Amino acid sequence: MCIWFRADTCVSPVQLSRPVYNYVFVVIFAQILFYMMNLKGKTAIVTGASRGIGKGIALKLAQAGANIAFTYVSSVEKALAFETELITLGIKAKGYQSNAAEFASAEKLTEEVVKEFGTIDILVNNAGITRDNLMMRINEQMWDEVLDTNLKSAFAMTKAVMRPMMKARSGSIINITSVVGLTGNAGQTNYAASKAGMIGLTKSVAKELGSRNIRCNAIAPGFIETEMTETLSDETRAEWVKGIALKRGGSPEDVANCVLFLASEASSYISGQTLNVCGGMVM
Ligand code: NAP
Repeated sequence: MCIWFRADTCVSPVQLSRPVYNYVFVVIFAQILFYMMNLKGKTAIVTGASRGIGKGIALKLAQAGANIAFTYVSSVEKALAFETELITLGIKAKGYQSNAAEFASAEKLTEEVVKEFGTIDILVNNAGITRDNLMMRINEQMWDEVLDTNLKSAFAMTKAVMRPMMKARSGSIINITSVVGLTGNAGQTNYAASKAGMIGLTKSVAKELGSRNIRCNAIAPGFIETEMTETLSDETRAEWVKGIALKRGGSPEDVANCVLFLASEASSYISGQTLNVCGGMVM
């Protein structure tokens, strides 16, 4: 048994001192990990990436070398600035104004992305909204808006990218759900139902498309500091943080790191799972 650490030398581990041995091990491990997490030449669609978690995800995938097609609905200026920021990383990037709540938009978006980028290897269904209130006060419109934007969008986008992914016999679909999809939450019946629905969708897609080498997983973030959570009162925020084992909110990058893992070859035998990124809020 030998370890190569220079092209022209081969030594037995017993000849190496422990610090050198550890160093060689770490370098080799880091190189394998870097290779597995490299997304150069892949194309990712990230929905709702003009800000917050989606923006963090798109940036992380771009830093790993992926070309990025992202969507937004109202933040035109932010989206244009972000598109420019991504392009400076040396990858191809384009923002599309596309309403996730509209079924027909998913088909149109996918066609445009395939035309522009050639393939779709990764889909991240991230676009999401809240219309919180007690069930007694939630009306039909508040229910439909949340279910259409959060859940129907994931169905529509998955259905649209299936064809190019099946043709390529490869793909990774990642649905951004929420811990409240697992636990439920008073004041969020519409939101919790949409996020629980995404978990059922994830498992079913994983079963339907697994034989075509298409994986589908979900990520359930806990309390992440973004514009979505900015609107919460100090008391509500303190109450959330109390229930978190790590005693702090997470960042978009915490979620993005998990997306990178699920998008890459490092997770090639993981499908149909929901990974909680919640600082130990839900166990
Ligand atoms: P955010 O800061 O409110 O950002 C939402 C993003 O989605 C924006 O880019 C927004 O685009 C886009 N969007 C909203 N409606 C859309 C639509 N109809 N079509 C296309 N894009 C749309 O939210 P966030 O906190 O980053 O949350 C991102 C995802 O993580 C959501 O699915 C959310 O449910 C989930 N999540 C968040 C937390 C948290 O603590 N923040 C926890 C668990 C799960 P515009 O800027 O153009 O409006």
